[in-house]
Amino acid sequence: MKKKTENRKPLIYYYAIVMIVLTLFNIFVAPVLMEKKVSQVDYGTFMRMIEERNVGSVQLESEKIVFTDRDNKQVYATNPLDDPGLVNRLYEAGATFSGNVDRRLSPLASSIVTFFLPMLVFIALGQYFGKRLIEQAGGKNAMTFGLGKSNAKIYVESTEGISFDDVAGADEAKESLAEVVDYLHNPKKYSEVGASMPKGILLVGPPGTGKTMLAKAVAGEAKVPFFSISGSEFVEMFVGMGAAKVRDLFKQANEKAPCIVFIDEIDAIGQKRGGRIGGNDEREQTLNQLLTEMDGFETNTGVMILAATNRPETLDPALTRPGRFDRIVPVELPDINGREAILRVHAKKVNLDDDVDLRFIAKMAAGASGAELANMINEAALSAVRNGRKTISQSDLEESIETVIAGQQKKNTVLSEREKRIVAYHEIGHALVAAKQTHSAPVQKITIIPRTSGALGYTMQVDEGDKYLLTKKEIENKIATYTGGRAAEEIVFSEVTTGASNDIEQATKLARAMITRYGMNDEFGMVAFETVNNPYLGSDTSLSCSPETQKEIDKKVVEVVKEQHNKARRILEENREKLDELAEYLYEKETISGEEFMRILGDEAD
Ligand code: ADP
Repeated sequence: MKKKTENRKPLIYYYAIVMIVLTLFNIFVAPVLMEKKVSQVDYGTFMRMIEERNVGSVQLESEKIVFTDRDNKQVYATNPLDDPGLVNRLYEAGATFSGNVDRRLSPLASSIVTFFLPMLVFIALGQYFGKRLIEQAGGKNAMTFGLGKSNAKIYVESTEGISFDDVAGADEAKESLAEVVDYLHNPKKYSEVGASMPKGILLVGPPGTGKTMLAKAVAGEAKVPFFSISGSEFVEMFVGMGAAKVRDLFKQANEKAPCIVFIDEIDAIGQKRGGRIGGNDEREQTLNQLLTEMDGFETNTGVMILAATNRPETLDPALTRPGRFDRIVPVELPDINGREAILRVHAKKVNLDDDVDLRFIAKMAAGASGAELANMINEAALSAVRNGRKTISQSDLEESIETVIAGQQKKNTVLSEREKRIVAYHEIGHALVAAKQTHSAPVQKITIIPRTSGALGYTMQVDEGDKYLLTKKEIENKIATYTGGRAAEEIVFSEVTTGASNDIEQATKLARAMITRYGMNDEFGMVAFETVNNPYLGSDTSLSCSPETQKEIDKKVVEVVKEQHNKARRILEENREKLDELAEYLYEKETISGEEFMRILGDEAD
């Protein structure tokens, strides 16, 4: 997207300039304009001119006489003398002495000079600066100023040659969009049958799942122009500009049809109208214009609107009703096969060792989005370069997952002996509790090297495949595993540290969800007390129950976590010897693999 990035000056700056110009004008220019040039002459000259009948009009004042020549071209002034015959002589000379000498400007001329001229200057300056402001804002039409048009080009055609093959996984989304490609190739095929394509398609999903890529791929496959604009670019400083941009976008799109218009982050303008304190006029106007335009253009014109958002729940229902964005295509986080496919697509751009197991990396990166996976491959490549190698190894990739999840290793953080020992016990506490429970994901790696995210160590568990359902038992085991770290500290050091804060947060979240959302408490049963607000962005929730129930829920949450904490303590106490042995081993080695861990744990593990 081409966009001017000049510094915008505040509006007050331009007003100040205008005010200064006006003041200077009034002080210096207006008085000069208002006076005609007057020549001061002596009384003799005045008398001689009368005799020569060369006097036009004369203004007789007590302090001075102002007169003009016969042609009214020049104004003269002289000091009056006691001259009783003057009036007669003037009369004989044919002068119009009773008339006004045009010394001052007429009321009309004076109002032109004092009012209209400054106004003109003001408007001209307004024109100039207004235009510049609009150019800076990237707008095309200035409704607010009623001023000239800016020629700023805001939409760029680009397909970047992306095709469906570049978008790995997301098979369902691709299937949905393949039809659009077919339609753009041959709109007639559809209109002949009387079928109409949806005017708009909304791609919804978490960030980084490839929504933008999919839209580009549709344009790339259909070989049509691609207009891309972000929702936030519509929202401008001046009310009405966004609406003007929408009009302009549709005008351009209609001229270029068949084409794809892609509006990224449409929630910036498409949020529900009304009901907001201090509503945003500009946004509402822009949305209204978008709705009108979408209604306005005929189906089967070949213009296809694609939009992306990760907050579909905030969109105005008018936007998603049939006839506008009537098809919603979810683009979810990839499953294990999707992750592997995405890794393969991005691995093509780098040199991998022959023995790299991308399936395993995909397994480790559970929950990662396409963008994160692309980032992991890049991090691995950077790490290979850092280590002076030409190809990426399996360990580079594993390390890069940890970098993306937990940040870089902080090698120069020096923990005291005691702290390091506490961290070692803490991590082994997690791992041991996880290993001693059935239905827990196997431990993959344990490390006590501090990370830039602030983690002093972590235990990585990797599930065999993706999990779509969690049983009550599995959630309880997870909570027990979270509490395992703190439990180990308690047992070994009879003391607790701040190191468990993240574990506590996670355990509480799970316990609360069990009660308020999953109906896993016998007393409350299948009642929802909490609703998820934005499933694609962090999933924060809002509670909807009476204060009494809230109190009860809090009590139950504490009970659940306590119960699991006690279970974890029990497990560790029963395996105290192993706990010491493993913690000692981790303390020495700093990082141990799942296999080493299981080997030391011996065949006691089930
Ligand atoms: P979104 O619009 O959903 O936030 P993008 O389409 O901008 O995500 O994706 C960001 C980057 O992530 C892409 O440039 C690409 O490198 C990578 N990516 C995301 N999803 C995929 C996928 N399914 N296949 C390949 N690469 C992907």
